[in-house]
Amino acid sequence: MLKIRKKALDRILEQAEKDYPYETCGLLLGKVQGELRIALGAYETPNANPDRKNDRYEIDPKDYMRAEDKAREFGLEIVGVYHSHPDHPDRPSEFDRDRAFEGFSYIIVSVREGRWVSYRSWELVGDKFVEEPVEVFG
Ligand SMILES: [Zn+2]
Repeated sequence: MLKIRKKALDRILEQAEKDYPYETCGLLLGKVQGELRIALGAYETPNANPDRKNDRYEIDPKDYMRAEDKAREFGLEIVGVYHSHPDHPDRPSEFDRDRAFEGFSYIIVSVREGRWVSYRSWELVGDKFVEEPVEVFG
């Protein structure tokens, strides 16, 4: 299950609209408490996919390391990844599943005509993505 601070979620949704019609992406910084991931901040990373930014995203390992440093500065860690699906539902694609890791939350935001319409969070269990409950706080 994912708990996310409202401010972080708002940033993600704004970012998803700003980057439309391309996929936006970034990392969730927070804490893990057993089965619960608590996201306190959203760290924007540029979509590093060279030629399919409209339906694929890629996080440069350098940006990943920068986010990790930032998290550490605040005593946090990376607890998940977020990205948007322009003009597509908030369900993970096969491509998303192939690149996912267990133990992370994956927020997907569906954006249509430049406005976000829905979001859901997913976690990888075995080789399947399972939707997880999201609680917004703060
Ligand atoms: Zn995707």
